[in-house]
Amino acid sequence: MSDAGTGVLGLFGGTFDPLHIAHLRLAIEAREELGLADVRFIPAGNPALRDAPHCPAVHRLAMVERALATMPGFSVDASEVLSAEAAPGPSYTIDTLERQRRLQGAQRPLVLLLGADAFARLEAWHRWRELFELAHIAVATRPGHELRVMRSGIPGDGAGDTALDREFAARRGAAADLAGAPAGRIVPFAITALEVSASAIRRRLAQGLSVRHLVPDAVLDYIDSHQIYRTQHGH
Ligand code: ATP
Repeated sequence: MSDAGTGVLGLFGGTFDPLHIAHLRLAIEAREELGLADVRFIPAGNPALRDAPHCPAVHRLAMVERALATMPGFSVDASEVLSAEAAPGPSYTIDTLERQRRLQGAQRPLVLLLGADAFARLEAWHRWRELFELAHIAVATRPGHELRVMRSGIPGDGAGDTALDREFAARRGAAADLAGAPAGRIVPFAITALEVSASAIRRRLAQGLSVRHLVPDAVLDYIDSHQIYRTQHGH
């Protein structure tokens, strides 16, 4: 438990292929809006439900580390990347949360941060219902990915049809609820709308176009000096 701290801890998993400004805004606004003591970025090792990342984990991790180096209150956890290198199976968020729960102790509130697109696909995740036993989930708005239950919050308006809709209705809470329990709430929150995606950034790079100000300068420097994403393979 040497890693255990105090206050509500945000956990932000992603492929970060590459890290971009909407990832940073999500983390910054989550910290402010939800009153988080710290946000820990957790680059995915081998994501289970999507194509293999375009860039090796060591680069994706290095880009996150460089971008966060000058941002107090934000940190990086390399454990998924390291365990994927040690054992090349898929990485599951449930394993990451179990590890964080061990590190942080049973009582510390943990909040898994997701964009609305990732939340909408939650039922496909390995052991998804157990996620709520280990952490709260906070869902950030994302352009083009409306959260159905966010429309009115009233059952019967088209939401409430799926198991995830029902979990959302039952667990829905507000930022103020997060500190009161270690896990179990689902809290939607609005962030600055930025229609930025890693896939569009990769496409621009492959076409030789600029991505300045879509990614932090430290990430741009890294991409340039390592010549990554510049060749067209995949999308
Ligand atoms: P790709 O375009 O390759 O699918 P991405 O831009 O969605 O990548 P990820 O690393 O897969 O980036 O995303 C990590 C997390 O950040 C996810 O929970 C995702 O929903 C969220 N996220 C990414 N971009 C945005 C955005 N523009 N607005 C809100 N949330 C976002």
